[in-house]
Amino acid sequence: MNIQWNQKTIPVISDSEVAVIGAGPGGLGAAVMAGRRGRKVALFEGSGRPGGAAALCEVSPFMLSGDTEKFFDAPVFTGWLERIISYLPDGLQQKQAAAECKDSSGRLITPAIAALAAEDMLLEAGVKLFYHFRLVDVILSDDKEKIDYAVLHSKGGFAAARAQVFIDSSGDGDLAALAGCPFEYGDEMGGCQPMTTCFDMGDAEVLGGDVRCQEFQEVSQSCFAQAVRDGKLTSPRENLLCFNAHDRHAVHFNTTRIIGLDATDSLMRSEAEITGRQQIREYIKFLREYMPGFERSTLRTFGDAGVRESRRICGRSYLTRDDVNRCCRFPDGIARCNYGIDIHNPRGKGTEVTYFKPEDYYEIPFASLVPQKITNLLIGSRCISGDVAAHSSFRVMPTVCSIGQAAGVGASLAVENSLQASDVDGSTVRRELNIMGAQLD
Ligand SMILES: Cc1cc2nc3c(=O)[nH]c(=O)nc-3n(C[C@H](O)[C@H](O)[C@H](O)COP(=O)(O)OP(=O)(O)OC[C@H]3O[C@@H](n4cnc5c(N)ncnc54)[C@H](O)[C@@H]3O)c2cc1C
Repeated sequence: MNIQWNQKTIPVISDSEVAVIGAGPGGLGAAVMAGRRGRKVALFEGSGRPGGAAALCEVSPFMLSGDTEKFFDAPVFTGWLERIISYLPDGLQQKQAAAECKDSSGRLITPAIAALAAEDMLLEAGVKLFYHFRLVDVILSDDKEKIDYAVLHSKGGFAAARAQVFIDSSGDGDLAALAGCPFEYGDEMGGCQPMTTCFDMGDAEVLGGDVRCQEFQEVSQSCFAQAVRDGKLTSPRENLLCFNAHDRHAVHFNTTRIIGLDATDSLMRSEAEITGRQQIREYIKFLREYMPGFERSTLRTFGDAGVRESRRICGRSYLTRDDVNRCCRFPDGIARCNYGIDIHNPRGKGTEVTYFKPEDYYEIPFASLVPQKITNLLIGSRCISGDVAAHSSFRVMPTVCSIGQAAGVGASLAVENSLQASDVDGSTVRRELNIMGAQLD
């Protein structure tokens, strides 16, 4: 059943040069870079904190995109990581800072610290923060080629935000979809990668002191296989996926698997939260009953169900599996990535994973951040233009931070040169990124 719903007169609460929707890694990159260029930036975030999946969904660690000595993703991601490390206590700080970037122990995330560090950077860049404001609609120009206002909802009701350029960093491409930009969803059978509810267990004695050691891996995978045979675990995963945490008595689990639900449908997303937590209940019992060292372990935290994949906004350029495999470079390449293809099966068990040699990488062209149809919008998020395989690679947080920072620089150039965002030259964005510390050449 549908009902009629009256439009209201609503206040304009913000008039900025650049408005960013979503404060995840992409929104952080976008807002910080535009702010550092002196632009008037407003950032609207539906939750009460920045950091996106790192802060809200307990995702850890940052995946590596870089060679053996350095990350590709300067300056915002590297600045974020440095700031995160600065919040750690003595000892842990030195340990994490000393870890080479290829060692994931140098890239661990505590969600609360990720949020504090991101907020530090946003405030220092002069970004005006609007927490608890969720984008719900857009008002387009008469010719339907520009976004005049973003319509937001908060406890106070509806409000509008005006901007010269908008950046969609919502992860799911909410702004672009509301504005009518074409997008793709899922693979050839319409399936997206599964969602996962991450959780941390504390008060554990980790065999070998490190979940990456052979002893822990052999024992935990064999316990997992036995529990599956015993019918104790319903998560449709092929193995147990876990990572170290800062606390040596804690383990981070990225091992629930929620299939067949569309993250852009809130009824299904609600169901996903329940399914993810149902799997956590099973995992708690499994760990205590089957896994040596976890007999007295406690559930410490869990995040919101994390979304790996949803809409992919069609752009001026479209990055493909082939581009990734052939390590393609572009004159308007605005980020480097060498995290491999990593597709968790949308329909059940199995994960396709490929690896790059440390010295190899592909580039992401600025044109894949430029959506079709709307001229004052850029995408600064995981939902840029590309196929399922390319998306599964560039979706990792360091790379998304770099995608965001390119959107922030692109939007700033549009304002500074009185251009439409869609007319900004991508090779100029690359040059400006380098001047601001991106190290792309
Ligand atoms: C389970 C899981 C495990 C992962 N593991 C890793 C890993 O180990 N390492 C790694 O580097 N990457 C990992 N990733 C990938 C990575 O976390 C995401 O791809 C990345 O966070 C995407 O960044 P983003 O800024 O585009 O979106 P998000 O991080 O999702 O941030 C989007 C932000 O926008 C806000 N928002 C959304 N819609 C609206 C709206 N309508 N109005 C206002 N605000 C809105 C959200 O609240 C959120 O804060 C994982 C992802 C998942 C789901």
